[in-house]
Amino acid sequence: MLVRYVIIGSGIASLSAAEAIRQRDSTGRITIISEESHDFYSRPGLAYYLRRDIPEKQLFIRSAKEIRELALERIHSQAIHIEAKQHQVQLENGQIVPYDRLLLATGALASSPSFTGNHLRGILKLDGLDDTHQLISRARKAKRAIVVGGGITALELAEGLHARGVKVAYLLRGDRYWSDVLNEEESKIVMDRLKHEGIDLRIKTQVEEAIGSRGEIQSVRTNQNEILPTQLLAVAIGVKPRIDLAQRSGLATKRGILVTPYLQTSARDIFAAGDCAEILDPQTGKSQQDILWPIALAQGRIAGANMTGEELVYKKEIPFNVTMLAGLKVAIIGQIGGGSQNDDLVSVSRGESETWRLLPKTILVESLDQINRIRLAFGEKSLQGALVMGDQRWVRVLKKLILHQVDVSAIRGALTNNLHQILPRLEQKLNEWEHRNKT
Ligand SMILES: Cc1cc2nc3c(=O)[nH]c(=O)nc-3n(C[C@H](O)[C@H](O)[C@H](O)COP(=O)(O)OP(=O)(O)OC[C@H]3O[C@@H](n4cnc5c(N)ncnc54)[C@H](O)[C@@H]3O)c2cc1C
Repeated sequence: MLVRYVIIGSGIASLSAAEAIRQRDSTGRITIISEESHDFYSRPGLAYYLRRDIPEKQLFIRSAKEIRELALERIHSQAIHIEAKQHQVQLENGQIVPYDRLLLATGALASSPSFTGNHLRGILKLDGLDDTHQLISRARKAKRAIVVGGGITALELAEGLHARGVKVAYLLRGDRYWSDVLNEEESKIVMDRLKHEGIDLRIKTQVEEAIGSRGEIQSVRTNQNEILPTQLLAVAIGVKPRIDLAQRSGLATKRGILVTPYLQTSARDIFAAGDCAEILDPQTGKSQQDILWPIALAQGRIAGANMTGEELVYKKEIPFNVTMLAGLKVAIIGQIGGGSQNDDLVSVSRGESETWRLLPKTILVESLDQINRIRLAFGEKSLQGALVMGDQRWVRVLKKLILHQVDVSAIRGALTNNLHQILPRLEQKLNEWEHRNKT
């Protein structure tokens, strides 16, 4: 019997699920329902495109041939309701799509600001390629832009608009950048570099009101009672998993769509993966939210395989990201809390994991020079997290130490005082250990 697989969404979780299905089932029908009309593209790449580092065509992550080989059917519409009992999805365009197995890969949406005037034209967020086109088109005409929010996306917006010749004021509600992940010195390094680039960075400043004329933004009034003229206000204050469709259709949700370790939702034959999915830790009954590309990709693969009848368990990896902050490469691995609560975000921001905000028992700061830094977070016996700023030479070995929860209690002193001598030796030992365990 020909199995009808339906996937809602066309992000990375959708693509990796479709590929996993096709690897196992060459004849089944795979239908992708997407409100976005573009081919599969890299969402993290949007920041690079906005900053003019890459051309638009480099965003697309599969060639036309690779997409053809997947033999997908695409429907460009929004899914508005799932009738789980009847195994069908209702679309905004009136179509009813029947399924045997359904995947929700609906991602996350940027949170909206709550200040007065938040409806004005020219107030933009960055969720996808269409938003990026809008930002670029506005930036062409704008002399000034204001960016609000903490985390990676806000900074990418500030730098991207600056790179497009717009005079940018970046407003932080708190007193330093990304304070729940970076420590004070790290925040300061990033903030100094932003100012040096020419970005007008203001702390303890928030928008109280957006003021417009004929529906277009013209200025903002801040809590410092200043009026800042602007033609563009970019907001990145966090994201929320898109659970509205699941909720409306009676599936179990909390912050995300609740799934088992097999990525199955509360309804039979319906799976969820990526930014929209939430797996509760059976011990604590809680979850750590991740808005990370590799995690969405890995979940899509597992969900796709399980939709064909396999029973693979999704095992969460250590949340990891390498990002550019004010031109500096920064790798963040595991629990590495920055010691303070971030005022600038109402929820997790993109490219981030809530896990990073957790603060293990002790923290060691190893400062190597002005900008090349390593900060390690120790648990009782093993490393729980690391932040590597600048030189990325030791990221791999630190990641392995954290991933394998290697007992480092005997060499804690050496890790504290002689990091550069001990890391090459540890790397060699870990490589040998991995090699032995492979064969
Ligand atoms: C600017 C930016 C920078 C980022 N930087 C990083 C980074 O540095 N590192 C990192 O790891 N991650 C980063 N991310 C996050 C990463 O891109 C996401 O975690 C990942 O794309 C999630 O994939 P997904 O498939 O779960 O959802 P998405 O890629 O969000 O895809 C969801 C899709 O579902 C569609 N959809 C939703 N509801 C419906 C519906 N009802 N009907 C039809 N279609 C629907 C949406 O339109 C969208 O196409 C960044 C994201 C952005 C936007």
